[in-house]
Amino acid sequence: MSTIAFIGLGNMGAPMARNLIQAGHTVRVFDLNEQAVHALAEQGALPCHTSCGAVAGAAVVITMLPAGKHVRDLYLGEGGLIRKAAPGTLLIDCSTIDAASAIAVSEGAAQAGLEFVDAPVSGGTAGAAAGTLTFICGGSEAGFDAAKPLLADMGANIFHAGNAGAGQVAKICNNMLLSVLMIGTSEALQLGRDHGLDPKVLSEIMKVSSGGNWTLEKYNPCPGVMPTAPASNGYQGGFMVDLMAKDLGLAMETAGQTRSATPMGALATSLYRLHAGQGNGPRDFSSIFEQFDKD
Ligand code: NAD
Repeated sequence: MSTIAFIGLGNMGAPMARNLIQAGHTVRVFDLNEQAVHALAEQGALPCHTSCGAVAGAAVVITMLPAGKHVRDLYLGEGGLIRKAAPGTLLIDCSTIDAASAIAVSEGAAQAGLEFVDAPVSGGTAGAAAGTLTFICGGSEAGFDAAKPLLADMGANIFHAGNAGAGQVAKICNNMLLSVLMIGTSEALQLGRDHGLDPKVLSEIMKVSSGGNWTLEKYNPCPGVMPTAPASNGYQGGFMVDLMAKDLGLAMETAGQTRSATPMGALATSLYRLHAGQGNGPRDFSSIFEQFDKD
């Protein structure tokens, strides 16, 4: 069992840290939000007042933060974790960020003799709670091998996509596709409703037909179809529109670097930016359904 510093206890980080505690690790936690730290302490974590405090005595650091600037500041900023971590500490960042930031942190870590793995996740808050996340890693073989057993305490599928930053590129490809599927599923469900179909019945039909996809199986965007989905809970919790808009921005940036054509991704980016601009940023990303909903 390891002593792990876990930093970033939001919608994803909190359940992930909880699974590490349940697996028997000693988990030192920090978040800028004191309430989040307090909630984890009640579940057996050791609460810390600063990120550096959390890292003291930890063999592994895991971060789950909103975006690249947070990750760069935390690891590379003045008094950053790379300077504070003891020799041999394994650094794992599970946030979804731009590959350039992941590579910059990896290079900074290497200069300090530390191993850094970018390990963004797929599976949402339900996967984080159930410990069934997919981890998509970038970094050296040695870093991946060291990270894998710990990631297995929080996930079911663990992939090594390639060198530093590769995990982020793979994750961005996945999320661009997810946004397109969510929008396509929303417009198809509303089209059926407009013609008097019951969205539950239509969902069952499409789930086992050629239009079947993850959003229909696990994350139906139409309220009332799937009681456990954010759509049936006022689009609360889950994966924020702001974060999807961020990921799509990263996808467009990544596509621009290689002049790759991503027309569906570009349209999804515009729609999510529009939706975020209408005050939906903190809501779950399946709320894009409301752009089509006439009820
Ligand atoms: P969130 O906003 O709920 O949580 C982020 C947490 O980081 C917050 O509690 C915030 O206070 C904390 N934080 C920010 N800066 C910090 C700092 N310097 N030190 C300590 N704590 C800090 O976000 P989330 O939904 O948990 O997502 C986290 C990451 O995971 C994002 O990159 C997101 O794109 C990715 N992700 C989210 C989901 C999802 O379904 N929510 C799924 C896959 C990937």
